Amino acid sequence: MRQRPAALLFLAVMFFAQPGLAQTSAAELRVVVMNVGEGQAILLRRGASGILIDSGVAPFADQLLRRIEAHGVTSLEYFILTHLHPDHAGGYFRVRERFPEAVLIGNGHPLAADRQSFIVNLYDDALRADPRRRVMRAGDQLAWRGVTLKALWPDLVAGQNLNRNSLVLSLIHGLSRALFIGDAGEIVERRLMERGFDPGPISLLVSGHHGMARSADANFLAHVQPRVAVISASWKMPRYHPGDAVVARLIAASGRLLRTDEDGEICLELAADNAVPKDCD
Ligand SMILES: [Zn+2]
Repeated sequence: MRQRPAALLFLAVMFFAQPGLAQTSAAELRVVVMNVGEGQAILLRRGASGILIDSGVAPFADQLLRRIEAHGVTSLEYFILTHLHPDHAGGYFRVRERFPEAVLIGNGHPLAADRQSFIVNLYDDALRADPRRRVMRAGDQLAWRGVTLKALWPDLVAGQNLNRNSLVLSLIHGLSRALFIGDAGEIVERRLMERGFDPGPISLLVSGHHGMARSADANFLAHVQPRVAVISASWKMPRYHPGDAVVARLIAASGRLLRTDEDGEICLELAADNAVPKDCD
C-alpha cells in the first residue's frame, strides 16, 4: 500500500499500544487451520489471545467458535478477512458477536454492488459499518505478541475480482516464516516474485484458493520452499476439490502436505525455524 494517513495512524497504534507483549516472542506459536468445509479459517494462538484469519462458511460458524474456545482463546485481538467471498467471510456475524473487541481487518476493496452477489454485498455493508474496521494492504504490518504479520498483497485494489485482491499475509516469528495466500492464485504469486518477494525457505504455506487449479505456481513453490504445506478444502464439494497437479506440486515442493479434507483440523506449532504438526486436542 502506498501509505495513507489513517493507515499510518493504525500502524502506529498497533506497534506502540502493546509495549509489554513482545516479551513472549520466545514462546511457541500455534497455528490452527480449521476444518470448516469448503472454506478457510485459520487461528493463530498465543496463550489466551488469538488472531483469526477468515471465518469459513456460515453453517460452520458455531463449530468454529467452539473450536476457538477449545483452543483456549478467550480474546481475539484481530479478526482478518482476506476477502468477502462467503467461504471466508461466512462466519463474520457470529464471530463478531462473540468477539466484539477484535480489530477487524479487511483489504478495503471498493465493491460495486451491482457486480457482486447479494451475500457479498451483505458482508460489505456490515464491514463498512463496523466501528473497529481497519484496512491493511501490501506493506502494512501489525505486531502481535512478538509475531509480525505483514501484508504482501494487494498493493492497489482494482477491478471486481475478489480472489485476485485477496489479502496475502506473511507471518514472521523469530526465524520462522509462514505464508497465507487466501484465494489469490498463481497470477498473484508470480507478481510477488516479480516484485522481489524473497522470504527464503518458509516453515509453513497455507496454499492459495483451496488447492484448486491455477494456484501454487511451480516457480513460486521452488522460491518459497515450504517445509509444510496445507490445503483448506472439503471432500464434499468435488467441484472445488484440490487439483491433482496442484497436490502433486505441493507434495514435491514441501516436506509434508496436510489437507483439511483428509486430515480434519490441522494444528501446528511454529517455533524457531520449523512448523511441527501437533495433536489438536
Ligand atoms: Zn475461498
